[in-house]
Amino acid sequence: MSEHILVAVAWPYANGSLHLGHIAGAYLPADIFARYHRLKGNKVLMVSGSDQHGTPITLRAEQENKSPQEIVSKYHKEFLDCWQKLGISFDLFTTTGTPNHTQVAHDIFLKLLDRGYIYKDAVPQAYCPQCQRFLPDRYVEGTCPYCQFPQARGDQCDECGRTMNPSDLLDLRCRICSTPPRFEVSEHFFLRLIAFENRLKTWIKKQAHWRQNVLNFTLGFLEGGLKDRAITRDIDWGVTVPQPGFEHKRIYVWFEAVIGYFSASKEWAKSHGGDTAWQPFWSGKAKSFYFIGKDNIPFHTLIWPAMLMGYENLNLPYDVPANEFLTIEGKRLSTSRNWAVWLPDYLQRYDPDPLRYLLSVNMPETGDTDFSWREFLRRNNDELVATYGNLAHRVLTFAYRNFDGVVPNPGEFDSQSRELLGKAEEALEDVDRLLYRCRFKEGIKTAMSLAQEANRYLDDKAPWKTIKEDRQASATAIYVALSVLSALKTVLYPFLPFSSERLHSYLGFGGNIEAGGWRFQSPAPGQKLPSPEPLFHKLDESIVAEETSRLGT
Ligand SMILES: [Zn+2]
Ligand SMILES: [Zn+2]
Repeated sequence: MSEHILVAVAWPYANGSLHLGHIAGAYLPADIFARYHRLKGNKVLMVSGSDQHGTPITLRAEQENKSPQEIVSKYHKEFLDCWQKLGISFDLFTTTGTPNHTQVAHDIFLKLLDRGYIYKDAVPQAYCPQCQRFLPDRYVEGTCPYCQFPQARGDQCDECGRTMNPSDLLDLRCRICSTPPRFEVSEHFFLRLIAFENRLKTWIKKQAHWRQNVLNFTLGFLEGGLKDRAITRDIDWGVTVPQPGFEHKRIYVWFEAVIGYFSASKEWAKSHGGDTAWQPFWSGKAKSFYFIGKDNIPFHTLIWPAMLMGYENLNLPYDVPANEFLTIEGKRLSTSRNWAVWLPDYLQRYDPDPLRYLLSVNMPETGDTDFSWREFLRRNNDELVATYGNLAHRVLTFAYRNFDGVVPNPGEFDSQSRELLGKAEEALEDVDRLLYRCRFKEGIKTAMSLAQEANRYLDDKAPWKTIKEDRQASATAIYVALSVLSALKTVLYPFLPFSSERLHSYLGFGGNIEAGGWRFQSPAPGQKLPSPEPLFHKLDESIVAEETSRLGT
């Protein structure tokens, strides 16, 4: 029976280009997962959007002397272009700037207020006498009281990952002018997180299937004790507060951005079968998976679940497979120092599948991993091209040329052929099991080892030699190899969709690859084969020096 799978993916701030850290952290694993489930015949809803509010946007706008909307529109367009080129297959990628999002955020706000989970309080707020304005948390900098990191922000310390209030910081200063701010009283709404502490503890204890790093981080956060958090602030860019007297304040971005998963599902529903089409993804047996980077764990394992507990009878996250970080050439990624590989740059120069391949085999699932151009070159040339691409190309070309452009009729299978076909069948089962549990790295390695087996088989059978003295033996070996390629295009499709689609048509299959489902299907003898092109291309050694010279400049 088919399942309903909600693939909820982190909302990128529309204040700058995407880089490989974003892709390895959330977007690629989410896409692999969504494609896998679609192939399995499950109902998938994969949503996200540009986070267009918050101080990362206004800070950027001030730096560039533009309006926040100009910044947001520019990057939202760029994101959409990147998703299409990299093959990140969202069902909907919207923004937090829609009337629908405001409406859903207001609804949640008002329900929580009505139920006593949101309350009003007067609080001292950082005010910069030099800039003559209230300072949102990200406009305040100081030393982290927990780990002594000197550049902690008012909302979170990037070093130890703790969330905090500006008043927790030591050596406070205004990020714009470095003046120490003073605190002035301002009225704000708060989320009563404490009210959910026990329910969250009970719920978290049941999530034995979560990744250990996610579980540990969440438990550590809970042990520190939950604190109520302000959900409004003195700023004029964001979702309005549906309460009188708050016309010049806005809902805090952390509170409304997580609501985006839900509002985007509702937006998607309107164009897919009506206003209630979102419901099967948010209730009953549906499972929801939240793909995020590790810096976002508490928002998805504690705060969003608390908001959901207080709102309606909607499903809590089933899993939060948060990834760790990707370093670049052995160093921590830094956008301000341009120590990053920008996705639009990559996509301008290279094909999408080689990047998807490298980031899959090297995914930061349980610990940080590194991206280097040297490894990119090696994985492309030695693995994608040499192990998989050449296998496909020589079998397809040979079949096309020597068997009149059709799949040849096999003779009887010997034990070696039966064994390889059995391994192809097994690979489908193994990768299925691994992807279901979000184990992407192991999944792609298992898939690639089938390609290695097929290469060994062909080396033994040498159909290019036997064609002269034993045409039937050659036909059988090629038929077996074409069958294994058919299994490979299926198990590799979630990771390498572009080359898999092409392989699907080179094998003579019609229609769309997802319609074929997650099953082992040998091409039918006599099935017409089109003239094939290579799936991948060897890259030149010189790209390593060329690309690394762009870093940090
Ligand atoms: Zn810290
Ligand atoms: Zn200032």
